[in-house]
Amino acid sequence: MSQGCFVIVTGIMQDAGLPHVGCRCHRCAAAFANPALAQYAASIAIVDERTTPAKVWLVDVTPDVRYQFNLLAPWLGRDAARPDRLRPPDGLFLTHAHAGHVGGLNQLGPEGMFLQNVPIYGTPAMLDLLWQEKLLRPLLINCQPAPLAPWQPLTLAPELTLTPLLVPHRDEAQTGTLAFLIRGRERSLLYLPDIDRWSDWPGAREWVGQADVALVDASFFSLEELGGRPPVAHPLVTETLSFFAGLENRLVLTHLNHTNPLLDEGSQAQERVAAAKVRIAYTGEKWEL
Ligand SMILES: [Zn+2]
Ligand SMILES: [Zn+2]
Ligand SMILES: [Zn+2]
Repeated sequence: MSQGCFVIVTGIMQDAGLPHVGCRCHRCAAAFANPALAQYAASIAIVDERTTPAKVWLVDVTPDVRYQFNLLAPWLGRDAARPDRLRPPDGLFLTHAHAGHVGGLNQLGPEGMFLQNVPIYGTPAMLDLLWQEKLLRPLLINCQPAPLAPWQPLTLAPELTLTPLLVPHRDEAQTGTLAFLIRGRERSLLYLPDIDRWSDWPGAREWVGQADVALVDASFFSLEELGGRPPVAHPLVTETLSFFAGLENRLVLTHLNHTNPLLDEGSQAQERVAAAKVRIAYTGEKWEL
């Protein structure tokens, strides 16, 4: 046991995961045939093992949340009142109002995990949207809306803070999109799964430069992958590598679309990223903070 705080990766795919619904590409066909090849939608958890039981916060509630809570079982432990169940998390953080980041909330009501008194953190507009949503309100009625103030560090525990950063990203519901800078005693990690373009965010290099590890949007590798269509609301990995020249050692890639050749072992895309000393996140990967 580390006796400290860490971030653990609980999923690395774009919102719809792998296999992708209705897709017959070679990666999805292989994952339909062999569920061991499936990958969950992007999320992370923050764990503080300095207390017993540990504290566990999940960042984004994806359609794969049932499996993601299962990955966190060693730290959640059993619920005191219902020992056949996992203890609920200490809080849920939501980056933004897109399907893969909130789509698992429907598992948390009385038909599912039945969370009670768990804080759900997001922008005020995001929480208003969820609590006004007729389908979701009965599921969330026992949880606590916890509005976040962008740019203000929130103390989760002694020497453990989370700072919400507003980033530009496709925003149909006008709720804003957050990235999170998570800072422990020794190290910090930036979690930024979705952004439209790095050049639209004046703070991009400064915030990535501040973090020891920056887990960033790697939805699409290159224009080739998109068959000439422009990328929708995400930077290309090839652009990310050049935009962050000099800071590559911090970059770790997540939120991969099923079309991304970085998913293929030994691909040219993987070689190109490795030559830049940039890594791809994997589920279960941990960083001590
Ligand atoms: Zn997303
Ligand atoms: Zn596919
Ligand atoms: Zn998004």
